[in-house]
Amino acid sequence: MKPIYTPSGKAKEYADLALNIYTGCPHRCFYCFAPGVLHRTREEFHSHVEPRKNIVEETRKQIEREGITGQTINLCFTCDPYPMGYDTSVTREIIKVLKESGNHVQILTKGDGSRDFDLLDGGDWYGVTVSCWDGMAAEEEPDAIRPSRRVEIAAAAKERGIKTWVSFEPVLDDGLILRTIFSTKFIFDRVKIGKLNYWPSDINWAEFGRQAEALCQELGLDYTIKQGLREEMEGKKK
Ligand code: SF4
Repeated sequence: MKPIYTPSGKAKEYADLALNIYTGCPHRCFYCFAPGVLHRTREEFHSHVEPRKNIVEETRKQIEREGITGQTINLCFTCDPYPMGYDTSVTREIIKVLKESGNHVQILTKGDGSRDFDLLDGGDWYGVTVSCWDGMAAEEEPDAIRPSRRVEIAAAAKERGIKTWVSFEPVLDDGLILRTIFSTKFIFDRVKIGKLNYWPSDINWAEFGRQAEALCQELGLDYTIKQGLREEMEGKKK
């Protein structure tokens, strides 16, 4: 078993290495791609959430075997490292194993990772996804914590000296995302902006991308426009 792997496709734009801790995720985001990637039904994926078998021990063994050190490893792509309502002590153990071997973590969550802030330092990244704001999120991401709370927790991470980032992907409310880029300009050290993939949308992606990029430049943010959105901006997609 090799828990640490090299992502491919759109995930590759987020990290060079990643590790998925749990078998599923209870947050029930309507746009979740993970059940398809894992060849599982949505119901099974959202209702069957437990740490992957021997994940801590297997991670430790892989690190020793392959001498993995000095890397930044994303937690997680096909699950959330902080599934709400579940015991996340395995996430804590994984962070310890990665840090003890000289690696850093890049967390991406729609849960609450504040319990592990004491393990993180200025070489680690705490990241949250914001796709819309609280009202819409209650419908579209019903069992995750609300976006406003995610931003508050990220602000607390920054206060502790942990680097912070935000994934504005998928985008469900373009106007809200533009306002949030502005209102969170002092909270996030890095901003990644994408679109809504695989689902229909009325959003004018080219226009949204141009406005988002202009705003990031005006604010002097460290930002990335993801490839799919960039192609819309350049007229490569209809
Ligand atoms: S938080 Fe991520 S893994 Fe969990 S349901 Fe939402 S999109 Fe899927």
